[in-house]
Amino acid sequence: MKGPQVLVVGGGIAGLCAAISARRAGARVLLVESAPRWRRGGNSRHGRNFRFCHDQPSALVPERYQADEFTEDLARATAGTGDAALTRLLIERSRAAPRWLLDSGVALQERNRGTLPFSRKTAFLLGGGQAMVNALYAQAERLGVDVRYGCVANRPCLRGNRLASIELRSSSQSGTSGQSGQSSASGLTGQAAESGGVPGRSSLELPQELVLEPAPEHPPEQAPKLTSETLTPDAVVLACGGAQGNPDWLRQHCGERVEGFINRGTPEAHGKLLIELLAAGAQAVGDPSRLYLVAVDARSPPADGGIVTRIRGMPQGMVVDRDGLRRHDEGADRGSTRYARWGQRLADYPGQIGYLLLDAAALREVPAALYPPLVAPDLQGLARQIGMDAAELERTWLTYNAAMRSSFGDDSLRPDLHSHLELPPHSVFPTDSHRDLHPDGSTHAPLDPPRTGPARALDTPPFAAYPMRPGLTFTYHGLAVDARARVQLSSGEPIANLFAAGTLMAPNLCPQGYLSGLMLTIGQVFGVLAGEEAARHVRG
Ligand SMILES: Cc1cc2nc3c(=O)[nH]c(=O)nc-3n(C[C@H](O)[C@H](O)[C@H](O)COP(=O)(O)OP(=O)(O)OC[C@H]3O[C@@H](n4cnc5c(N)ncnc54)[C@H](O)[C@@H]3O)c2cc1C
Repeated sequence: MKGPQVLVVGGGIAGLCAAISARRAGARVLLVESAPRWRRGGNSRHGRNFRFCHDQPSALVPERYQADEFTEDLARATAGTGDAALTRLLIERSRAAPRWLLDSGVALQERNRGTLPFSRKTAFLLGGGQAMVNALYAQAERLGVDVRYGCVANRPCLRGNRLASIELRSSSQSGTSGQSGQSSASGLTGQAAESGGVPGRSSLELPQELVLEPAPEHPPEQAPKLTSETLTPDAVVLACGGAQGNPDWLRQHCGERVEGFINRGTPEAHGKLLIELLAAGAQAVGDPSRLYLVAVDARSPPADGGIVTRIRGMPQGMVVDRDGLRRHDEGADRGSTRYARWGQRLADYPGQIGYLLLDAAALREVPAALYPPLVAPDLQGLARQIGMDAAELERTWLTYNAAMRSSFGDDSLRPDLHSHLELPPHSVFPTDSHRDLHPDGSTHAPLDPPRTGPARALDTPPFAAYPMRPGLTFTYHGLAVDARARVQLSSGEPIANLFAAGTLMAPNLCPQGYLSGLMLTIGQVFGVLAGEEAARHVRG
């Protein structure tokens, strides 16, 4: 069989869309995925909704979400830092995303018929990202895309404005289309495992149950043999995600604090191709020290915990650091951005760990979480469980509760009551209600930091805690591309036969901030575009 005309690197949404569109345009396509078949699909397996522009309501979304509003939302989220021309292209082409996915076998949730809440701006994947990924692989294979698992692309060789060759390293146990790869089997995966996948945490001196295990290494007897080959395809689409699974890279750019972070996505996101291409003269976008972090349960697995590990109940309780001190206002954030803001805050906490503390009443109100809370009949017992100084915790707790009561009395601060109080929005502590606090709790000081939003004293035992850490979702560093998804050299010239899609080039559009559902849209839109352009390049 002849070699591939288009090589697609990475089998998440961006790579699959690229492979399918290049194949539909007539090219012979090989897609290589570094993960074994059972873990194929990268971070895309974890996604659940994508944002798209629509001028009319449909079975998927109510009302309209037009280009102007999408543009404004994105400009606000990114503080206007995204590339304007690429943003227009993304938004215009997002209109076609639902139809394209449906035509490729992906099931989308119809509004009012699924189990997830629908939104005006995003469509939900029926069965989540895993179902989407499975459907796209099936579609790619039906069309005749050759898929190789456990196969890592690296060592890109640039000559002038062309990619001359690229190396593939496969394991002897790698699966191909339709087979089951038995092992992650790649040198790079092996390296990630060597460095722990997610860094060790022993230095944080946590109680044993809060210390995360490093990712398992291959037992020596199962270590796969690696074979290498050098490929010279006509065109290459890079869709290999971010670098959030590379502890060394993270440490280099973000410092030692990354030891306290948890990667909630794929451990395969090692960013090696990005690093190699930047060294070879490609133009970078974004900031390597910027990370998209959300608050996750500190007991989450070191990688791939996914969306279910997030913690969202901050407004119902009180958040303290490992020394028992409050550092932020628990009620200040709006719904959908809350857990992302807490991810950033936890990154600055000592040891990158914090605790959401609740009483029995608050526990009934928090959104469901994957892990059960740590529970104790009294504060001392809770402090013991989480390895905290009980006296400090008690001091913070008393101060907090006293401030709650002094403002609204014992009954206080349920959302329904709040709405009758005619307070300024997001303020249950009007300035004149801040008073001095004494150890017996009888007089009150301004709570520092203040507490806004509906709130209440936490005084009904048993008491509970969720330990939290920053959960890494993706990195904001990638390759600059033009409007044909071609990777740019630092001279500003495009590399004629090298294209990029998905997280790897997302910082062109979103170098900071985030909008829910944006990343899957970037993957779909630029994946399809890159595949079309690669096939066009092949045709000449
Ligand atoms: C828990 C979680 C929830 C999320 N929820 C949403 C959501 O609801 N909506 C949304 O829009 N976004 C969401 N995101 C973000 C979104 O899922 C990702 O940004 C997006 O799916 C990335 O797509 P991608 O194709 O660029 O990369 P990925 O899906 O990560 O795919 C990259 C693939 O490349 C492979 N690879 C890497 N290097 C190599 C190499 N050298 N050779 C071969 N293969 C390689 C990897 O194994 C991987 O499979 C979420 C992310 C997480 C972690």
